[in-house]
Parts: sequence; C-alpha cells; structure tokens
Amino acid sequence: MFGTALSQLRYGLAILRNRRIRPQDLERIARDLVATLAEFGEPGADSALLPGQAGAVDPAVRRTVTERSLRATARAAAQHTAYYRRTFNGLGLDPLTLTPDTWDRIPVTPKAALRGLPAAFVSAASTPALMALTTGTSGTPTTVWYSRAEVEIAVAMSTVSAVLGMGLRPRHTMAYAGCSRATLPLINVEESVTRIGASFVQIGTVDPVVALDRLATPLGLRGKAPQITHLTISASYLSALVEEAERSGWRASDFGLESIGVGGEVLSEPLKERAAAALGARISTAYMMTETLPSGGTPCTEGHLHHTTEFGHLEILDPVTHEPTPPGAIGTIVQTPYVPYRDCTLLLRYATGDLVARPEAAPRCELAHLPATSPVLGRWSGPLSRAVPTRSVLNLLEAEPDIPLPARHALVEHPPGPRLHVLVRRLPAAALLGRLEDRATAAGLALDAIVLHDDPAALPPTGPVRADLREHTFESARPAAVRVASPA
Ligand SMILES: [Zn+2]
Repeated sequence: MFGTALSQLRYGLAILRNRRIRPQDLERIARDLVATLAEFGEPGADSALLPGQAGAVDPAVRRTVTERSLRATARAAAQHTAYYRRTFNGLGLDPLTLTPDTWDRIPVTPKAALRGLPAAFVSAASTPALMALTTGTSGTPTTVWYSRAEVEIAVAMSTVSAVLGMGLRPRHTMAYAGCSRATLPLINVEESVTRIGASFVQIGTVDPVVALDRLATPLGLRGKAPQITHLTISASYLSALVEEAERSGWRASDFGLESIGVGGEVLSEPLKERAAAALGARISTAYMMTETLPSGGTPCTEGHLHHTTEFGHLEILDPVTHEPTPPGAIGTIVQTPYVPYRDCTLLLRYATGDLVARPEAAPRCELAHLPATSPVLGRWSGPLSRAVPTRSVLNLLEAEPDIPLPARHALVEHPPGPRLHVLVRRLPAAALLGRLEDRATAAGLALDAIVLHDDPAALPPTGPVRADLREHTFESARPAAVRVASPA
C-alpha cells in the first residue's frame, strides 16, 4: 500500500513549492487529511492533495533545490557516518562543492557494504530506534536502522497513501498479509489504518486456505463493512491465494474486497488480471524499499513507473560499469535518500539492484513531470537477469493455468542460449509447451529452450519468493459449508 499516492502527495507538497519541505509538513498533511475525513467522510474535491491542483515546477528552481538537497545529504553523511567519512577523506572531496553534474564523483555504494556493516551507515547525530530488516530473498537480510522521526514520516506517508491511493475510509477494514516479522511495514500499516479510523487485521503469510477463509469471514462489526475490504500483500503470496481460490472454487462474491495493494516483488500483468477476477478487487502497486523510503515510485496510466524527486535523487546506471543508462536500455536504480527525511541510516548513491528500462522517448502522460522508468523488471544477479528479466518470465508463466502458483522457474546458461526450466502440474504437456514457446518468441525472449518439469526435485534451484516465508498456525481449514454461508 505504501507509496501508492506518492504522486498525489507531491501535488500537495507543491503548495510549498520552491522551499524545503519539512518532515512536520508531511505529518500536518496526513493529520489534516484524517480530520477532513472525520468531518466530511471524503478528502474533498478541492483537496490540494488531488492531482491537477498545482502547477509545474520551474526546472531552474528544481535544479537549485536538488543541489541543496544533495549537498546537505552528502555533508551529513561525511560528518556523521564512518563509511562516508572514510570515502570523502579518501577522495579529498568537499561535500559542499558537489553539484548534480559532479555527483558521480562519489562512488556507488554497493548493497554488500550496507549488509556487511550497517552501523557504519548510522549517523552519530541520530538516535536509532527501530531495526528494519529487508526480506533477504536475494541472500542475507539487510539491516536498516530507523529513528523515531523516520518512522513518523513513514506513517504520515502511509496515511496519505491509504486514503488517496487505496481509498481507505473509517468504515473499511485493512488486512496485512505480509510476513509478520516485517516490523516496519507492519507498524506503518497498522498505525496509518487506525489513525484514519479504519480497522486493522494482521493475517500474516499463513496457509492460503486459512488466509482466504479469514478474508471471507463476516466481521459483524457495527458501522463497518461486513468483511475485510482492503488487503496489503506481496505478489508471490497473492499468487498463492489466486492458486488456492481458483483450485477450491471460491467466487469473487465470497469476498468483500475492494482494493489490494501489492508491493515488494514483480507483479505481472496476467497475475494482476487473475487476482482481480478471483478476489473481486482492484489491484494497485507501487515501488518502495526499506533502504530508500520515503523515495519511491508510482505507476501512471501509460505503464511507466514515475519516481518522486522531493525525497531523494534517482539515477539509472549500468549495474557493472555504473555509467548512466541511455534511453531505451536497461539499468539499475541507484538512489540517494535526502536528509532530513532520512536522518539515521544515511546512504549516498545506493545500488538497489532493481532493474528498470529507461523510456525510449520522453513520456507524455499525466505524470510526465516526474522521472519515468519501466516498472521494476527484476533484480540484478548477472547478465542473464538483464537479458531475460523476471517480469518477462512471469508475464509468460503466470498467464498459464497449468503452471502452479507461485510459479517456480530457473534460468540456466546453456550455450548457445539460456534455458528456462519451469514446474508444471503434470507431464506430458505438449500443448502448454507449444504455447509457451510461441509466446516467448512473440515477446522476443532470448531463450534457447523451455524445459518443463513435473517433479520439483528435478528442477534446477529456483529463487525464493516471499510466499515461502510461510508462518505456521494452529488453525485448520474450516469446512466448505461455512464458505457457502458467507455473504455474497
Ligand atoms: Zn507515465
């Protein structure tokens, strides 16, 4: 859910155009929004937070603001963190002389550096309050320390996002189906939802049978919608729910879901369509990561991902050479989150590893004033991850009902070209293979062959997904008769 309304928030902040946005401004905007909801039930058509209420920002002014933010962030990092003090001393670089054009004199910070020694990135001028851990699907989790003020900013952003992006109102109930150990998103969602006056349910990443049952169960609360209306979930666990819902004959009308916010993983188009059909809700997504929040991205109607400029500096660079990625090519997101929105873990030119394509031509969409990339294509793990991105593979596989979800797949280098290994329900599956080959060719995927397996043990090692963070419960599935009795 977090970050869905970042673009709208930007419009609101543009009232304060041309001067620095203070963290307390974010909290004030969130507070005002909640107060308006409490009094009028809706944000109000003239809300300054809605799109179209602010003019464009002068590029010269934008550049000045960027330069000031870069210098302030570099100075704080060089003065107060062990890692960047060493970097700036080693280079003999004065942070206050940097400009957007000379910003690349600072070396890119690899993920491994933060993972290896998180304390070296914590500002000596801050008070670390919360240790946020990334999921670590790509290996060891990364530790990111948050101050109390940073948590407050995150909650404020999350509140605005829930109201404007997911349409959350006091009569609604939001369920969180992310991993229960993901403390930061859990606090964010719970705090923002209950501030709005809506109710909150923690489901966790449990057996999909249990999760669907929980979503369908009547709440019986006075003044509230009869069932859970909103859901925050990862893409792979959503796919596990879709699999179970389709397999066990759930109908969309069994649920009261209105809106599902998906984050953290690549959400393919076919999964989005199947989830909307199976669960009867609109599906939204946004880009956000623990290390770089509150910077983030929001999709437009033309399929770009647009990135905020107020809270951080975005670069799209080659994952190996760190040279800027030209239009039309694929690079990785390198992000510098600005002080004072971040004051605890400070990062300069942080290599997120998230692969995106730069648009061939300048966008002409409703968010054209914000930097645009493609949606995240996958995570950089070597040349193969760029040649055949995860998003292309999922677009191929998640459209096929004969492939169990979450889709299990592995790309293996096998000269003359990579082979895509896929787990299917049963073999032989000649028709499925033919379809996959045709669609892979049509999509221009540089594959030598597709190899189907019906035995997970025979499949080459596949990457872990968030749905694998399964939490145990003592509940067993309730009998199907209960589902029939649930409200349509
Ligand atoms: Zn766009």
